[in-house]
Amino acid sequence: MPRRKVSIIGAGNVGATAAYYIAEKVIADIVMVDVAEGTTKAKALDFLHAGPMRGYDVSIQGTSDFSAIADSDVAVITAGLPRKPGMDRMDLLRVNAEIVKSAAKRIAHYAPNATVIVVSNPLDQMCHVAFRTTGFAVHRVMGMAGILDSTRFRYFVATELGCALTDVHAMVLGGHGDQMVPLPRFTTVAGIPVTRLLDRAVIDRIVDRTRQGGAEIVAHLKTGSAYYAPAASVAEMVEAIVTDRKTLAPCAAFLRGEYGIENLFMGVPVLLGKNGIERIVELDLDEAETAQLRSSADAVKKGVDELNTFFTTR
Ligand code: NAD
Repeated sequence: MPRRKVSIIGAGNVGATAAYYIAEKVIADIVMVDVAEGTTKAKALDFLHAGPMRGYDVSIQGTSDFSAIADSDVAVITAGLPRKPGMDRMDLLRVNAEIVKSAAKRIAHYAPNATVIVVSNPLDQMCHVAFRTTGFAVHRVMGMAGILDSTRFRYFVATELGCALTDVHAMVLGGHGDQMVPLPRFTTVAGIPVTRLLDRAVIDRIVDRTRQGGAEIVAHLKTGSAYYAPAASVAEMVEAIVTDRKTLAPCAAFLRGEYGIENLFMGVPVLLGKNGIERIVELDLDEAETAQLRSSADAVKKGVDELNTFFTTR
């Protein structure tokens, strides 16, 4: 089998941990690119030193030279700055949009056949920046959020029921953030809808905790945000694409009329395989679910409009 290659732009907490999960499962050769060259080289070497014990023989490179990403099958964008004191949301948006734009330009130049997974926040806006800057086809640019939100939902359901984590499958749609749309009707335990196993009040509490999942971790960490589960979510998407596994999972996809939404990246169920997003699955949502998705789309649209006020992406 030809060796597969994944590049991770931004080898910080999420990027480097994703590299770790990808190496551990021997999914692909890895290139980590970061402006912090020394740290990135050191992380790559450190990973390689663990290889003989952990049994992975993938190649792992750490560099600040973007030409190393040539011929990548997948490029993950995890580069970005956290919000610093004195920065407002728009300042952060502007800074991260510039970072994602420069990463996307390099991907288009050095790895024109790669599928792009955007992770940097604000996620939905950054997907737009990457999509417009690369000029790649819609199915080759996507955002990571829904898998993460769903795994949190799965964990909370499983612990509430005291059942195996892997028996729970969950679906969380919409934009990334408070406006996400967890769907209990499409969340099952070994095929049984969770709505038959838990009371409405308990489900509501779990839905709320899922919505606050990222914030709960930030509140404990004080500086920085979650990275183990986000990195595992990235590895899951990378694996689905490079192994052509046809995984059905929620990802931020560019919608062109699906769910009645036009020209926005939104979290929806997709089939992930070697061609990136191979299919968008349209669920039969009820009135309340549709209303929540619409309101989430309005929030994402507002964010994209903000982005357009100061940022021309081409
Ligand atoms: P981090 O600060 O640990 O890492 C960011 C890395 O980006 C740093 O190593 C930094 O040197 C690097 N970087 C900055 N500018 C760069 C550039 N121009 N080129 C290459 N590298 C550059 O942050 P983190 O915790 O790893 O989070 C990374 C991003 O992912 C953040 O924007 C965060 O908000 C986002 N995130 C998203 C999700 C999600 O669900 N989509 C989840 C967690 C984190």
